[in-house]
Amino acid sequence: MAIVSATEMVNKALEGHYAIPAFNTNNLEWTKCILTAVEETKTPVMIQTSEGAAKYMGGYKLVVDMVNDLIDSMGITVPVALHLDHGTYEHCYKCIEAGFSSIMFDGSHYSIEENVQKTTELVKAAHNKGLSIEAEVGSIGGEEDGVIGMGECADPNECKQIADLGVDFLAAGIGNIHGKYPENWKGLSFETLAAVQAKTGELPLVLHGGTGIPADMIKKAIDLGVSKINVNTECQLSFAAATRKYIEAGKDLEGKGFDPRKLLAPGTQAIHDTVKEKMELFGSVGKAD
Ligand SMILES: [Zn+2]
Repeated sequence: MAIVSATEMVNKALEGHYAIPAFNTNNLEWTKCILTAVEETKTPVMIQTSEGAAKYMGGYKLVVDMVNDLIDSMGITVPVALHLDHGTYEHCYKCIEAGFSSIMFDGSHYSIEENVQKTTELVKAAHNKGLSIEAEVGSIGGEEDGVIGMGECADPNECKQIADLGVDFLAAGIGNIHGKYPENWKGLSFETLAAVQAKTGELPLVLHGGTGIPADMIKKAIDLGVSKINVNTECQLSFAAATRKYIEAGKDLEGKGFDPRKLLAPGTQAIHDTVKEKMELFGSVGKAD
């Protein structure tokens, strides 16, 4: 089974009141262990990459080939979508050409008029090639690939304008932040989420910055129509912590502990555990059956 568009899996999640996990990948270890975990638990998944991570890995074509080849060689049977996270206008076209099955156009930093115009164009281009497309209204706080946002709450009327363009799912800022949450974070704005949902109706919503949001808030967000949740930083933190432990214990100095297959194994296992924990929280385990 090759990569698929995310439209069907996300719509099913909306109907079934759970959320599709969207994990960012950074390299081969990340991709393999996400695929291992979703196959073990029969979970539909979105694997996504930022522009920066794709560049680090060697480009979009390499990412497409890596994911498709692993699906083949690992005998993956669950639906897997390959998605561009926070794409610019130009890079959305590059990913459509490279063979991604889903894109996100982040036009949140444009005026609403320009966001509408560019999203309209990209919805057409994506759908012509069978890809799903996510759009964004209201910038999401924190930092991602050098882009700093202040964690604003989206205007529900602007969300309706973008929703009406035929996007498959919509990221609306509801006080969520990329990366670690600060001590004084006020929490998600469920008022905003409910107001957005009242305007956009049956459109699945996306929650960015899934790292560190308390479990009860995640569950409430899913109840209010969130059907895709992005997880990036949490996997990076668990990978780094396990790798640090291995080195600090001097394991890399014992025998062939310096071999990357050994050196990266504890971190990879830690990502695997984080991924499983998230899928259970999002209620998506077993939904590929
Ligand atoms: Zn994001």
